Amino acid sequence: MTHKRAGSDKPPAERDSALAPPQDSQESAHSLRRLVLSEEMYRKAFFLTPDAMNITRLEDGMYVSVNHGFTQITGYEESDVIGKTSLEVDIWVHAEDRARLVQGLKTDGMVINLDAQFRTKRGFIIDGLMSAAVIRLGEVPHIISVTSDITDRKNAETQLQRSEEKYRQLANDLPAFIVTYLPGGVLTFANQAIAKLVGMEPPQLVGLNFLSFLNEFDRQVVQKRLSQLTPQQPVEAHEQTYVGPAGEVGYHQWTNRAFFDAGGVVTHFQAVGEDITERKLAAEEMKIAATAFESRVGIAITNAKLAILKTNKAFTDITGYSAQEVVGKTPKLLSSGRHGPEFYAEMWQSITQKGTWEGEIWNRRKGGEVFPEWLTITAVRDGAGVATHYVGTFTDNTLRKVAEDQIKTLAFYDPLTQLPNRRLLMDRLAMAQTNSSRRQHRCALLFVDLDNFKTINDTVGHQVGDRLLEEVARRLSHCVREGDTVARLGGDEFVVMLEDLSLHELDAATQAEAIGEKILRALDQVYEISGHRHYSTASIGVTLFGSVKNESIDEPLKRADMAMYQAKAAGRNALRFFDPNMQAVVAARAELEAGLRKALDQHQLVLHYQPQVSKDHRVLGVEALVRWKHPQRGIVSPSEFIPLAEETGLILPLGDWVLRAACAQLVAWSSNPDTSHLTVAVNVSARQFHQEKFAEQVLAVLDQTGADPRLLKLELTESLLVTNVEGVIAKMNKLKSHGVCFSLDDFGTGYSSLSYLKRLPLDQLKIDQGFVRNILSDPNDAAISKMVILLAESLGLDVIAEGVETQAQEQFLHSQGCRFCQGYLFSQPLQARDLEAYLHRFAGRS
Ligand code: C2E
Ligand code: MG
Ligand code: MG
Repeated sequence: MTHKRAGSDKPPAERDSALAPPQDSQESAHSLRRLVLSEEMYRKAFFLTPDAMNITRLEDGMYVSVNHGFTQITGYEESDVIGKTSLEVDIWVHAEDRARLVQGLKTDGMVINLDAQFRTKRGFIIDGLMSAAVIRLGEVPHIISVTSDITDRKNAETQLQRSEEKYRQLANDLPAFIVTYLPGGVLTFANQAIAKLVGMEPPQLVGLNFLSFLNEFDRQVVQKRLSQLTPQQPVEAHEQTYVGPAGEVGYHQWTNRAFFDAGGVVTHFQAVGEDITERKLAAEEMKIAATAFESRVGIAITNAKLAILKTNKAFTDITGYSAQEVVGKTPKLLSSGRHGPEFYAEMWQSITQKGTWEGEIWNRRKGGEVFPEWLTITAVRDGAGVATHYVGTFTDNTLRKVAEDQIKTLAFYDPLTQLPNRRLLMDRLAMAQTNSSRRQHRCALLFVDLDNFKTINDTVGHQVGDRLLEEVARRLSHCVREGDTVARLGGDEFVVMLEDLSLHELDAATQAEAIGEKILRALDQVYEISGHRHYSTASIGVTLFGSVKNESIDEPLKRADMAMYQAKAAGRNALRFFDPNMQAVVAARAELEAGLRKALDQHQLVLHYQPQVSKDHRVLGVEALVRWKHPQRGIVSPSEFIPLAEETGLILPLGDWVLRAACAQLVAWSSNPDTSHLTVAVNVSARQFHQEKFAEQVLAVLDQTGADPRLLKLELTESLLVTNVEGVIAKMNKLKSHGVCFSLDDFGTGYSSLSYLKRLPLDQLKIDQGFVRNILSDPNDAAISKMVILLAESLGLDVIAEGVETQAQEQFLHSQGCRFCQGYLFSQPLQARDLEAYLHRFAGRS
């Protein structure tokens, strides 16, 4: 409580009326009237005033009179106090207050506005504001005092102070910037937050101009906005950029409120500001993220267990699945089944190790269509590095693939024929080169050039020329296997690349030559183009490659090209090898083949017969062995031309001729007592036997020649049994039912399985000469021969050994139980006439 000292500047009225004694008669008349007036007035005032008034004797403080206000404020009735001293009534709370009053009255005769506390009759403390003066009543000095009850006002003031303090504290504790300022901007209050922002203490800010902290532009904006505030709309809010001490840009949100007086004039403003930088940046980020999320890239976010949490619109557009359909499920839903477990294992290994994986993957749309997408999977990890989410983003690669394919077509294929162009050929050539050294095989390059294309083009026009090239492309493609390449280099130049040929150079050359010949024949056929017939041939140059390591890929092409010119020089419609040796081999084969065809037509083939002799040296049969009486070369061995005949298919007419000749011989011999008992063994190739109508053909030949089927023995080889054993057995049975016998030639060299052997209706096993040759020196060969003999015995078959050249071999074989032999020991294969003479001598000898 503040105590105000009693002042000495007394009001003139009181000085005049109450304390100053009358001076003269005129004055006394006046003062009397005033006294009367005052007495009247003061008496009434004394009783009417709501303040507490009392009159006490100066000497001892005894109460002389109290007014109604006194009773109201203190609770003491007149009867409680009159005649008692103020000490007795115990109305003062603080003795010092009373002492101050007394002191004031003593020195100045009066006290104005003394703050003091009083105790009511019921013991409550009240705040009073007391004024008092000394008056004389009948010469006795008294004190008259007036006390206002200011308890409520005091309380209100304290309350106000407290609440102000509270709000100041609150304002200081808030992170928001709070200021109050006068119109014009002078700060009357600033809180801690704003002070900190500008690097000062709150009191230092008071008196400074709030607006001076703004830049010129913001100041003008703010001033304009403040000027627009009205009692109806006292609040404005705006955002402001803020550049911090380190140059960092921030954002503040300010709310200004104007306070108006009754006349509508602004008394002051209050501004509350807030740093919204983070919120704003976060919002911007959110906006960016949201925009990014709704991009054209498909996005799926899963939790750590791969359950889908969220997808975007592009996801739906690409996969066909709405968000509702996939949320909670795993992306496995999209799996196309095109990738094996290793693919996914590798993917997850990358995600686990590097946090991300990227690549092309085939997925399945809701509609079932499988499509390629470019997918990136990124793991979202928490502070401890544990994956909490996975984000998959992908783009549909279908269109890109189509475009890629188109580009590829344009870049790698000839637009006219759709064949690979030079570029793709070179690619494949390089690949073939690496493959061939790894896979141990040879490749061939055939350079095909049309012989008279230019003439066609010039005489009938380019359109016809184009159609012809398309047809050539088609025919070339039909001549090769799927893995081979037919390319068009341009114009009328084509290249055929053959892979997977034999590792042996000459065999590979033969294979290449066969296909080259096939191509020559295919291109030599008539071309029907727009109703007209055209003729064209080609020249082909061939070279092998794949044997020389690190050979440049241009080399084979150059060689084939050069060989092609040789083919042109040789008269066109021809094939030439680059390598002269190869050319020689191939030429020899070609010559042999052509010669063999001629041999069949011109009866250059003959049969020789080699005797088959029993243990007791009787000739029971012969083996027919074909010979080619070549006009220049003389007798040519079958081991030179039979394989070629088998390869080219010539074996069929050849075999037919042999069978006929052998049967005819049987018929011829049937009338001669020396020979009528002889069986004739005829060798039959697998390819021959596998003809569907083989059995019928043999029976027909027997029928046509009239030969006795029981004297015909067919020698089959084990190679026959590689396929369709059932068919073989059926044919054998059919022939057997007519009396034809069977011998298994070269036994022991092939792949016969014993189980087959049991089921074949054979009559004889023939021990191959390879075992007989060293039968006395090589224990293995001896053992094998012995085994064959035992096996034949157990199957109830005869055994014959071929290639028996010495008596020792014969004796050994006899000792093992082999009862028939064939070989030079007895005779070379002989012409029929010679054989007859031999038999005659032989019969005589035995
Ligand atoms: P192959 O059927 O095993 O005929 C036996 C071959 O051994 C014959 O050779 C024969 O002259 C030869 N030879 C016979 N005795 C001896 C000997 O004591 N020592 C030696 N070192 N060789 C002997 P050839 O006549 O050159 O026939 C070779 C192969 O040609 C035959 O082997 C047979 O597989 C095939 N062949 C022959 N003529 C025909 C035929 O008309 N048709 C079919 N498809 N193949 C035939
Ligand atoms: Mg034979
Ligand atoms: Mg043989």
